[in-house]
Amino acid sequence: MSAEKLFKAKIVQLIFSKKTEEALKALSQHFNIEVPKLKVGMPKRHSKNLGCYTAKDKTIHVSSRENLYNSYLILHEFYHHLRTHDREHKGTERHADKFAKEFIQAYRDQISN
Ligand SMILES: [Zn+2]
Repeated sequence: MSAEKLFKAKIVQLIFSKKTEEALKALSQHFNIEVPKLKVGMPKRHSKNLGCYTAKDKTIHVSSRENLYNSYLILHEFYHHLRTHDREHKGTERHADKFAKEFIQAYRDQISN
């Protein structure tokens, strides 16, 4: 397994182990960007979603405590953080899903070995 895949598997493992803050720190270090904030509670206009990213305060919001440990959701929202170089461009939903899936696939490959 490549170093990149091992890193991805480790991130999912951390979120799974309820160490989401630690996972976000490791991810941010890896991509050399600022660590996003993490908050339980959605902004009003996103209240129907499980999670969202707000660029103005660099915060990943999740709808409930359980969703702090939803690796797919956290990684999807982290992608928006990663892609936000200004307030407009946050990357596409499709790419955010692909980003999250790659991490989860790496984790699955590791545990199936
Ligand atoms: Zn999204």
